[in-house]
Amino acid sequence: MLKHNLGYPRIGIYRELKNACEDYWNNKNDLNNLFEVGRKIRKKNWEVQNKAGLDLIPCNDFSFYDHVLDMTLLLGVIPEEYMSIPNNNDNMNLYFSMARGFQKHGWDIKAMEMTKWFNTNYHYIVPEFNKNQQFFIFSKKIFEEVNEMKVLLKSTEKIKPVLIGPISFLFLGKEKEKYFHKMDLIDKLVPIYIQIIHELQKLGISWIQLDEPILGLDLSDREKEAFQYAYKKISKISSDILLTSYFDGIIENISLIKDISIKALHIDLIEDPNQLSKIIHFLNKLNITTTLSLGIVDGRNIWKNNYNHSIKIIKKSIDYLGENRVMIAPNCSLIHVPIDIKLENSIDHDIKNIMSFAKQKIYELVDLANIIKGEEKILLENKNIIEEYKNSSILNNEVVKKRVAQISGQNFNRKNIFHIRQKKQKDKLNLPYFPTTTIGSFPQTKEVRVIRNKFRKKIINKEEYRNKIKEFIINVIKKQEEINLDVLVHGEFERTDMVEYFSEKLQGILSTKNGWVQSYGSRCVKPPIIYGDVSRKNDMTVDWICFAQSQTVKPIKGMLTGPVTILQWSFVRDDQPIHDTAYQIALAIREEVLSLEKNGINIIQIDEPAIREGLPLKKKNWKYYFNWAIKAFRISSSGVKDETQIHTHMCYSEFNDIFEHIADMDADVITMETSRSKMELLKAFSDFCYPNEIGPGVYDIHSPRIPTVKEIFNLIEKASKKLPIRNIWINPDCGLKTRKWEEVLQSLKNMTEAARIARIKLANQSH
Ligand code: GLN
Ligand code: ZN
Repeated sequence: MLKHNLGYPRIGIYRELKNACEDYWNNKNDLNNLFEVGRKIRKKNWEVQNKAGLDLIPCNDFSFYDHVLDMTLLLGVIPEEYMSIPNNNDNMNLYFSMARGFQKHGWDIKAMEMTKWFNTNYHYIVPEFNKNQQFFIFSKKIFEEVNEMKVLLKSTEKIKPVLIGPISFLFLGKEKEKYFHKMDLIDKLVPIYIQIIHELQKLGISWIQLDEPILGLDLSDREKEAFQYAYKKISKISSDILLTSYFDGIIENISLIKDISIKALHIDLIEDPNQLSKIIHFLNKLNITTTLSLGIVDGRNIWKNNYNHSIKIIKKSIDYLGENRVMIAPNCSLIHVPIDIKLENSIDHDIKNIMSFAKQKIYELVDLANIIKGEEKILLENKNIIEEYKNSSILNNEVVKKRVAQISGQNFNRKNIFHIRQKKQKDKLNLPYFPTTTIGSFPQTKEVRVIRNKFRKKIINKEEYRNKIKEFIINVIKKQEEINLDVLVHGEFERTDMVEYFSEKLQGILSTKNGWVQSYGSRCVKPPIIYGDVSRKNDMTVDWICFAQSQTVKPIKGMLTGPVTILQWSFVRDDQPIHDTAYQIALAIREEVLSLEKNGINIIQIDEPAIREGLPLKKKNWKYYFNWAIKAFRISSSGVKDETQIHTHMCYSEFNDIFEHIADMDADVITMETSRSKMELLKAFSDFCYPNEIGPGVYDIHSPRIPTVKEIFNLIEKASKKLPIRNIWINPDCGLKTRKWEEVLQSLKNMTEAARIARIKLANQSH
């Protein structure tokens, strides 16, 4: 029974790669330095996995920026505009220009598009294809890394190069021209894969991992055909292929591997444990002698493996297939978890004991293999730790559990339907047509960050800190009044991150010191860890919001992060159904909402930018997701009086196919990103007759460009043709924290001016 790994985190234990890359980009070190850091990280990673005793160790899972971009370079898919960028033999300038753009020496070339890697928070660079796309081996990275590893391990036996498979690669890219389908490129692409495989074989490689996560998706006929075409060809020339699927089950697509012979098939038994029996049945029925690689250690979460559970799966597989035809591995690459739990020294011992990061996960595979060999003691120890934790008082809060159990319709319905509430809110708030507002944050200047850091490091005391934040608030209120916005915000200066802020205040959630996970390129995030029953001990935002309200007669909009987003951007406990955890967080947010209301705040925004990201990969699972996600939002938002206006905000994604669920959230006002799609989204909302108020973003905050009054007015006019005028809000499309003050002031002035003109020109036409 071979133990192997699909990919190891490449940022370095102390984010060495981040620092080395950023120093290189800022001309603070040279390429040799950067390469040296890369080599050290790879060496360390290989050593860790080798020392632990893995039988196959991934190679080419390292990347200076993104493994999809590496693949793009390997296959020579360089968009034309980057071809002429000054480049050396190493191609690094080209590589980083594609990732980050090139704005030097009079050049102004944009970065390639970036998007989320399936349903994770990792972002990849989107390959671009032309109709006449040519493929050829361009980058030698994979071969160099194989050679490097060969030297270190003194043999090729354990080396398993990792590549994104051809169908997933095409799937992840986009057509840059019209009138062709990217899947039609498959016959040009396959020969290059074959060439790569030949080269690897020449180096003495006998295992090649081809990642095809698309097998877990709903595939079109075209994609299925391309898959079969590609793998029939590939498997003909090589018997060394480990075909990996992950992020979801593949039973719907299993017949695609019927006529191809692969050495091993990897399946994700964390996301879909039920597929095991069906897959075994399929293999046996067709007499397919492929080895089955069981993805049983969770590469997307940070909890210790339940050995008892895993051993059952392994034994069952061995019973049906024989020990030689079973392998074990994490379900997916470990780049989605932090590296080493040992570095966390401030986490409570009992909680730490139940956690496992990448390095620990490698050792879990070894443990599992040893248990199979008969070391029962390890199994018992693991059982005890898990049992103890389950019953621990750190985890359990009976009051919270009871409240979740008692949730009923009353908890997720507003007292009255929207149009009754709308009338009361209009009377109470007395806002003009086209009310203007912002999404919450204002520029997080260096000064703001320095203050927060000083407080965190105890260089300034609480009172000094609070006074400083109050100054920022006073200033931002004054500015918003000058700009003449209608609904003001406090600016979010006390928050580093919209999820971290709440997770630090809630019981049952912890933050790590060094639990970094790559988000994109050199950017890393430190997801909070929801380890126990979640509850709210004290007010979390009320002080700041009320202070802001005391500075103005205009309404202040309270600002909270919603339960789905908190969940989505955290590591979540896996010992209870996800909806129970969601409802616990929702109840805590609901208390905060009610406290804000009690303290005189009449408008409260509950941000849910991540609601779309949480969607399962397969459509058939959407219903279950929306059911709990929408309910959670409604629990958090529905406790208030009719007069209190609930806003929500969404961004980062396509909403066209989910707007009926967005309507289900029943927020009084939703503000959202639309400006990049020139308000196409509105069509969906108007076709659907979206019942509540909407603030379609009227300009793109991701760019420093200042929108003109005229273009904003045009967008408002467009919106007013699609939606009832009484329902339209005017706002930027997301928070302003990444922008500079001078951009923000001018943009918002243009926005309020456009709204003023719209009131004169558009609002008179009776609505
Ligand atoms: N209120 C948050 C802000 O303005 C929303 C951030 C987001 O949408 N991601 O920053
Ligand atoms: Zn946003």
